[in-house]
Amino acid sequence: MSDKIQLLPDNIANQIAAGEVIQRPGSAVKELLENAVDAGATKIQLIVQDAGKSLIQVIDNGSGMSETDARMAFERHATSKIRAIDDLFHIKTMGFRGEALASIAAVAQVEIKTRQPESEFGTYLCIENSKVLQQEPCACNPGTSISMKNLFFNVPARRNFLKSNAAEMRHIIDEFIRVAMAFPQIFFSLTHNGQEVFHLEAGSLKQRIVQVLGNQYNAKLVAVKEETDYLNVYGFVGKPDTAKKTRGDQYFFVNNRFIKSAYLNHAVSAAFENLIAKDSYPTYVLYIDVDPSQVDINVHPTKQEIKFEDEKIIYAFVQAAVKHALAQFSIAPSLDFSL
Ligand code: ADP
Ligand code: MG
Repeated sequence: MSDKIQLLPDNIANQIAAGEVIQRPGSAVKELLENAVDAGATKIQLIVQDAGKSLIQVIDNGSGMSETDARMAFERHATSKIRAIDDLFHIKTMGFRGEALASIAAVAQVEIKTRQPESEFGTYLCIENSKVLQQEPCACNPGTSISMKNLFFNVPARRNFLKSNAAEMRHIIDEFIRVAMAFPQIFFSLTHNGQEVFHLEAGSLKQRIVQVLGNQYNAKLVAVKEETDYLNVYGFVGKPDTAKKTRGDQYFFVNNRFIKSAYLNHAVSAAFENLIAKDSYPTYVLYIDVDPSQVDINVHPTKQEIKFEDEKIIYAFVQAAVKHALAQFSIAPSLDFSL
């Protein structure tokens, strides 16, 4: 009899784990932007080259990291955001799995410069294949600048799966928009191959939505705002004439996290019943704030799917909130009881 089982070396284990979190440049963009948000940044710049295939860089003016933390951050399951499993149900940050930087360092060439505002010097680190190649003190702005080059340089099979630059750039823009719409109080910019694609000054929620979706929405948004002890729903729906034939601009955020939910899409569509054609899709950007104990965000590595403690209440509330908003603007004839 012979034994056959071996523990995988760390860098291989990291490469495998990376597959769950980092599927493409857009997923790395999401993770890095969310880290900058969690660091309390008020200004976040995203710079990409070749649709993120050769470079993704995020510069923030957030809390920065100490020398030890900068190194620790790239270990698997290393996080400053939770300490116990219960913390998951009180979570206020975007991250908590402690996997993103370890994954990125396993599949790209990473350089980071980070400085805490109160420190005189920052730390520079260069990492490849999960190994630190260089570490030294450096002069840099307070905050963090992290760049990852040549995504999947060491996993050719995955690199071959990447789509055209246009398709990968579309994913990057989707991720960028989702974070930017969740945090209108933060400045965001996106530069691709030296050209600025987005320049989003900090402002109100409505300003941010119009900046992102386009000026044509300025006079086309109906405010939604409904509050209870249990949850708040707010944001905007497009007037019925902004409905589209294809599923276009539909955004749900739960506690500032973009989520996908066919169930909640349906709640909004139901509120638009009789106002738009059956085969068209309403435009909306809606935010649901609910006690973190009422949602489980740890059902998928990318956290885009979540589970509500009581889905039916949320459905009913969202539908009612949208109906109410539409009725107030007198564009919901079916709800006009004054006749
Ligand atoms: P998570 O975000 O789930 O904690 P990450 O791998 O994304 O895991 O990051 C690991 C840790 O590195 C974070 O918990 C945080 O303490 C630190 N970190 C990452 N990015 C930044 C940043 N831009 N500014 C300050 N700290 C950061
Ligand atoms: Mg993170």
